Amino acid sequence: MSVDPLASEYPFYTPYNYAGNKPISKIDLDGLQEADKEPAPTPEQPTPSNTTPSSNTNSTNNIKQNQIQSPSEEPKIISRSEWGAKTPNTSPTTVGGKPKTYADIPTNNLSFYYHSIVIHHTGNLNNNPTPNKIQNEQMKESYADVAYHFLIDKDGNIYEGRPLDKMQAHVAGEHHGLIGIALLGDFDSTNEGLTGNPFIKILKQAAEYALGDSKISDKMVEALFNLVQYLNQEYGIKYFGGHKEFQEVLNIEGIEKGDNRFCPGFEGMDIVSDLRRTFKFALPSTMTNTDKNWFK
Ligand SMILES: [Zn+2]
Repeated sequence: MSVDPLASEYPFYTPYNYAGNKPISKIDLDGLQEADKEPAPTPEQPTPSNTTPSSNTNSTNNIKQNQIQSPSEEPKIISRSEWGAKTPNTSPTTVGGKPKTYADIPTNNLSFYYHSIVIHHTGNLNNNPTPNKIQNEQMKESYADVAYHFLIDKDGNIYEGRPLDKMQAHVAGEHHGLIGIALLGDFDSTNEGLTGNPFIKILKQAAEYALGDSKISDKMVEALFNLVQYLNQEYGIKYFGGHKEFQEVLNIEGIEKGDNRFCPGFEGMDIVSDLRRTFKFALPSTMTNTDKNWFK
């Protein structure tokens, strides 16, 4: 029986991973561990737009860098009616002292209104998560509708979630300007996301061990890239980060203090960091007070 020669050094990777699960920042030279791509050109060197397509290596990132130069088409988005979304519950409900209404955002100018993209994962409470399952679960928790504006599955399908002209519900508190994208799956192999009763935690870990953690597929990353590129083009995004990063910046009245969940997980945050670098977005921690108090 042959064994991956690097198995003992990289016990946290399956032998089947590509580029260390970092397809944007790394390349896969030889099927072993990830390798750094060629360094980015310095200002003195030709910019990517001056290079001919034939000068591209097979690095995914070089291809992406060139794609950023040209306007992108709207990626295929599976509409609410296509995936069979339930009608939102428009009667106001209140959870934890905060209304979870289905209010319109305070302007018709969406490109002025939106300044941030927040990445989530749906976590370890759902096996084989679908937009329908997530919507059902969130509406059971008194949300008016699915909390996320977009959801992406492992096959790279992008689903329309909460319409962009409705108030967000994916970051706790009444915050404006935040587009929410959820990756369908659990991308935290350490299970830091499990909080509360340690006995339940052990049971959940055992169940999850038997089922195996999700891994972010290349198709999911590709779809996320295309969606982020498109949204940036349409709305002009300044800040980009994981849910946890935004929640730390936007905490209000301590209502989130008890929520130690790490969304979108370690694997999710790897992709978030890669995309933030690629698109040169700002960290949520650099958000100005004006943007924190946007439309308040
Ligand atoms: Zn989240």
